[in-house]
Amino acid sequence: MKNRIIFLIISIFLISGCVTIPSGEDLPTYTIGGVTYYSLIKLCDLRNVQMQYDTLLQTINLNKDSQSLSLRAGDALILINGNPRNLTSPVDIYQGTIVVPQQFKDQIFDLLFKKTVAFPHRAGAGKIKLQKVVIDAGHGGNDPGAIGKNDLREKDVNLDVAKKLSALLRAEGVQTVLTRATDNFIPLSTRVSIANKSGADLFISIHSNANRSRSLSGFEVYYVAPTVSDSKRAAFTAKSATLNLRDASFFSNAQDLRAIVWDMIYTNSRAEAIELSQALCKVMDASIDAEILGSKSARFQVLKGVRMPGVLIEIGFVSNLNEERLLKTGAYREKIAEGILEGIRDYSQDMALVEVAGR
Ligand SMILES: [Zn+2]
Repeated sequence: MKNRIIFLIISIFLISGCVTIPSGEDLPTYTIGGVTYYSLIKLCDLRNVQMQYDTLLQTINLNKDSQSLSLRAGDALILINGNPRNLTSPVDIYQGTIVVPQQFKDQIFDLLFKKTVAFPHRAGAGKIKLQKVVIDAGHGGNDPGAIGKNDLREKDVNLDVAKKLSALLRAEGVQTVLTRATDNFIPLSTRVSIANKSGADLFISIHSNANRSRSLSGFEVYYVAPTVSDSKRAAFTAKSATLNLRDASFFSNAQDLRAIVWDMIYTNSRAEAIELSQALCKVMDASIDAEILGSKSARFQVLKGVRMPGVLIEIGFVSNLNEERLLKTGAYREKIAEGILEGIRDYSQDMALVEVAGR
């Protein structure tokens, strides 16, 4: 078991040095060691294939119309309806997402799970498939955050957008937890523990940007940095936290197994945070005039501690005169909150189908 984890860690290190070539189509491709790979979650999404993670066997099971495929990260051996077959390249992990080689897609997946007509996806269409969201308004109290030339304070904008977003989510039947609802100072560690105690599905931290260059403007989303070792965090958390797994008596005192489970929870959370960042940018691109600076990874302290998919949104630059003027208006802040709501909706509907037991 230990060897397998070490192998996984090593392979993640090796992969992260390689080049990614987004294809520009709906299905992004990755080049790892000269071989073209696809995101397994995206493939399954496209074909409506059910995907489940067996935490004990560390196996990914794909099912549709009584056809099944089983595979493991780092392994070239797969099972097609229970029959073994070797791929020329192994299933891998890239940026926290399971990826599969082109050979797997062309010769196995596409043939086994035939195309179904995909329903066109419309923003604002379905119900938000989440129970609870933590909304964290950045700064507060004696920490004003960034201050604009015309005195707009980041802490005020953040709080108002957080409250507006909370109201919109509640109107859709989603519970919300605000790390602060008034203009007071809350330490980062308290924000993290509020989030972790809440049992929420998602953590959204709202900030406004500032830059010495006043010409800089736009909207951007950060997720936790892939360079922060998930395995290290997992091992640390396994030691310090009690596992909350149903039917998990077999995990009782095995530190290794606990670390593995935590590792998967983190890896999965990060993959989901990346998905959410991209959904937010896509919706914002369509709904506000501001430039979309994209989704990026970062080592924000507040994101590192949360044990759920988390993103930090920089809604605009208070240092930019035009954006400061816009952010001062309630109507623009409402538009931002509505955009975030639609991003969350899209994400919740496209959400990764990987179910980690007991989450
Ligand atoms: Zn800030």
